[in-house]
Amino acid sequence: MKRIGVLTSGGDAPGMNAAIRAVVRHSIFNGVEVYGIKKGYQGLINADFVKMDLGSVGDIIHRGGTILRTARSEEFKTEEGIAKAIKNLKDYGIEGLVVIGGDGSFRGAYELSKRGIAAIGVPGTIDNDIPYTEYTIGFDTAVNTVVEAVNKIRDTATSHERTFIVEVMGRESGNIALYAGVASGAENILVPEIPYDINEVCKKIMNGYKRGKLHSIIILAEGAGHSFDVGKKIHEITGLETRIIVLGHVQRGGTPTAFDRIMASRMGAKAVELLIKGETAKMVGYSRGEIVITDLEKIKEKKKTFNMELYELANILSI
Ligand code: ADP
Repeated sequence: MKRIGVLTSGGDAPGMNAAIRAVVRHSIFNGVEVYGIKKGYQGLINADFVKMDLGSVGDIIHRGGTILRTARSEEFKTEEGIAKAIKNLKDYGIEGLVVIGGDGSFRGAYELSKRGIAAIGVPGTIDNDIPYTEYTIGFDTAVNTVVEAVNKIRDTATSHERTFIVEVMGRESGNIALYAGVASGAENILVPEIPYDINEVCKKIMNGYKRGKLHSIIILAEGAGHSFDVGKKIHEITGLETRIIVLGHVQRGGTPTAFDRIMASRMGAKAVELLIKGETAKMVGYSRGEIVITDLEKIKEKKKTFNMELYELANILSI
């Protein structure tokens, strides 16, 4: 392996830059040339390639977003699109690729590997929703962003004795809601994985007020219902005034936490190591303190299991 490429694809996540840096530096350290591919798979199709050197990833370890930009490419899902991408890679003599992204991006990486381009996936998504890895780059930063916001909301919630619904990202995954909910001591955590009864939610809020709680915080993953509808229902049932905060894209940005930078550095370096060893169609993951490797093919067949133990603990601690 003499020359590889690196791209970021799908939704951006804090820590992607630290992963790019690790890929570039680890490659150059091992005598492998690296090309940065701009705007994900669309950049592969358009040959939007830039040769990376040690300095091109300087001063980015602490930055959110991705210096390579990211995109969603419908064209890459077509045979013509992927053929163009492969031709460009071959023209540049790029034999292997590190794809930093989510499960959609890994499907693209798998398609490339089937057509003779060595491809290794590095999980980068704030949702932490990829199976066979306990962690995805960006999750810790996103959770901390939510927790910081809830700290501030608590101050005003207490002062006015109000019920706040904080809507967080996660259309299909309640991980941000769960972890941020536990860390911020939310009274209710509503996630798409677990059906809930709005009457029970209201009962819990009222019980809290009866025993002297000054406020109530509900963390709602966007896939678990529309926050304004939930707020309206709670008002109808309890008569309480509710306030809605939709955190939105704030959760994607910001400087990555130390944990995200370290995970990104470890995972990015491992991806290069695998390419050098001649591996392909693998994802770098994390389990029980170790970096682990899984076949990309397996990823699409499974959904990540929801942490019920933590969910139940959250319910106990918020009585
Ligand atoms: P994420 O990687 O964050 O899950 P997406 O699901 O939007 O984000 O996927 C990112 C990109 O990966 C898509 O825009 C597309 O270019 C590529 N991709 C997704 N699925 C496939 C597939 N089945 N075949 C080829 N490319 C795919």
